[in-house]
Amino acid sequence: MTLDPSDWKDLRAQGHRMLDDMFDYLADIRERPVWRPMTQDVRDQFKTNMPSSPQSLDGIYDEFTKFILPYSSGNVHPGFMGWVQGGGTGVGMLAEMLAAGLNANLGGRDHAPIAVEQQITQWLREIFKFPAEASGLFVTGTSLANLIAVLVARTEAVGKDVRKAGVSNHSKLRAYSSVAAHSCITRALDMAGLGSDALRLIPIDASHRMDTAALKAAIAADKKAGLEPFMVIGTAGTVDVGAFDDLAAIHDICRAENLYFHVDGAYGALAMLSRELAPRLKGIELADSVALDFHKWGQVPYDAGFILVRDGEKHRAAFSAPAAYLRRETRGLASGDFWPTDYGPDLSRGFRALKTWFTLKTYGSEQLGRMMEETCAVARHLEKKIKAEPHLEILAPVQLNIVCFRYRADDKTNAEILADVQESGIAAPSMTTIDGKRAIRAAIFNHRTRNEDVDALVEAILRFGKKRA
Ligand SMILES: *Cc1c(COP(=O)(O)O)cnc(C)c1O
Repeated sequence: MTLDPSDWKDLRAQGHRMLDDMFDYLADIRERPVWRPMTQDVRDQFKTNMPSSPQSLDGIYDEFTKFILPYSSGNVHPGFMGWVQGGGTGVGMLAEMLAAGLNANLGGRDHAPIAVEQQITQWLREIFKFPAEASGLFVTGTSLANLIAVLVARTEAVGKDVRKAGVSNHSKLRAYSSVAAHSCITRALDMAGLGSDALRLIPIDASHRMDTAALKAAIAADKKAGLEPFMVIGTAGTVDVGAFDDLAAIHDICRAENLYFHVDGAYGALAMLSRELAPRLKGIELADSVALDFHKWGQVPYDAGFILVRDGEKHRAAFSAPAAYLRRETRGLASGDFWPTDYGPDLSRGFRALKTWFTLKTYGSEQLGRMMEETCAVARHLEKKIKAEPHLEILAPVQLNIVCFRYRADDKTNAEILADVQESGIAAPSMTTIDGKRAIRAAIFNHRTRNEDVDALVEAILRFGKKRA
């Protein structure tokens, strides 16, 4: 029994309508609230039983437009400034549709979609000046890319046998990142079986960069105590304020101590595309691996994380495993010299590479670099506005595209103001803690965000602040 329609006419008409509606959604996004909470009625829509008989596509699409589309998190909207999230593009949306139509499985075998993914790896080798033997892989996001890096580093440090015998003999392994590193790194150590205690959190300096003298001291102390330092994770763009660790200095320490050097570039690695911003990443070209997210500053629709590993053989050694039904042939569909499944935990994988390929080709590296620079300019504009408002104060120096500030009132009031602003639908910044104080955090990652959008944010915060304080 086929699930295809007997006549494609209706499905085609529906498809055209959906496509037009989504273009309207993107074109008119400013006329919508950034976010609104789901009503009880909406929540109840998702509690109905699994349908046993067919429903009309018309009706299902109607449910989508009524109950899903208006209640998404809003990161497409220029007023979305929370966390570290990209805005996506119409081009990325189209590529997702094409990828779904192809329904390609990128676990392995010999087909063009694998060549597309390999081409992105090649482009990243060029951007980061990595050698030809570097390997690359799309993953969901940097959380997984960081885990892969930990597994590659672990296997290199103690040998391939760890994959058979487990980690019980390796409880002395220690890794290092700064206290400002992303929490997924702690989870990566945990998931790798080494335990989150195996991660040493090194203090940061006033600009939130890892204190490299403290790093050196921690490695020395651990060695003295008989522990086994094996990797350091530098951050290119910290989630709190957008700080870049001194990657060149960390590399030097890793080389001297014979440690694996990984860079979490989820946020900032793609700043390599900007001539103005690239100097901050000095030293990334020396890393053993780089994790990055195309779905953040790169504006590729979710999800599109990536891991690039300098030594492809080490990468493969951490994951490849023989299986009769995955036998490689020299001819035919089961051939192909790069099987992504040898480089990560997934076998079946979607075609994340296509939306990234379309995005990189459509805009080109220069335009993407300029777009990133402009988000930084919007952040500087916001900083200036805040400094001119006696009721507001900046809580961390604006280094890039993140502005941390607060209404001059206590933590609780600031949390209320933030929720007021989010619920108003005007803007959606998020919250963090800077030097023990609750901070409203506006991260300008969306290519649609302009000065007028951050002006509206300031206006709303002042308005709600006056009401609350
Ligand atoms: C977003 C982010 C992560 C996590 O990446 P995901 O793609 O959300 O899994 C890790 N590190 C940093 C610095 C980030 O900004």
